[in-house]
Amino acid sequence: MTRLLNPLGQLIGGPGHQPRVVVARGEDGAERWIDEVERGLACNCTCWECNSRLVARQGSVREWSFAHQADSDCAGGVETQAHRYAKAVINEAGGLYVASVRPDAWGALHPRFMQLAPVRTEERIAGFRADLVGSLKGHELIIEVKVTHGCPANKIRAYRDLNMSVLEIDLAPFRYATADDLREAVLKRATRYWLCLSGGRDVPRQPAPTKPGGIDQQRKLSGFARPKNISQREWAEMSTLEKVTAVDPDGRLTIKSRGYRS
Ligand SMILES: [Zn+2]
Repeated sequence: MTRLLNPLGQLIGGPGHQPRVVVARGEDGAERWIDEVERGLACNCTCWECNSRLVARQGSVREWSFAHQADSDCAGGVETQAHRYAKAVINEAGGLYVASVRPDAWGALHPRFMQLAPVRTEERIAGFRADLVGSLKGHELIIEVKVTHGCPANKIRAYRDLNMSVLEIDLAPFRYATADDLREAVLKRATRYWLCLSGGRDVPRQPAPTKPGGIDQQRKLSGFARPKNISQREWAEMSTLEKVTAVDPDGRLTIKSRGYRS
């Protein structure tokens, strides 16, 4: 039986491990996912980071992934896998849902699907690598994809100095999700918030992320027991929303209350 890792290179349902390479560069420079190539060296793929040949491991015991042909310390671009996947999802859908920019609706999801011109990955902006760059209503929009670390403060400052709008999407709670759930997370279900806005518009000092549920739901959920995989110390330092996300990672308990799950 073939078992596939999810598009982030993780085991579906966990437990977590170092993400593996599941998307490589084909001969034509385009992305090739592990389940759409020939086995072994016949995959004709190379590594995004070091350009060396990769082999497609498609055995019946371990989950499928790409590996360097020779021993290598190269991580093979697993960090950018999430960006490539998010790009593919957004481009296929033609856009995504963004957070509201209205001060009185801060933290809420904008109710309308936003059509986006095709997004690109890994573009250099102000000395930083932007995860995704697209254009929304004629304005450049940067999308940062959070899997383990959020966008660092100096990167946000640089974007703000350039008067860019930057949306961050938090995929961390979906790390071990199936491809279908991840797709939905990228487009709508994962928490998203503005790190900065163009046109000199302020974002609150502590940007309130889009809430998966109402305030009452969150209070209720924040009283939930600490999951075993989170230490007491971590738990004590987590915000209510982080707790809600940890307890209810895919929003099954909270999303219904908002009624935006299609
Ligand atoms: Zn490599």
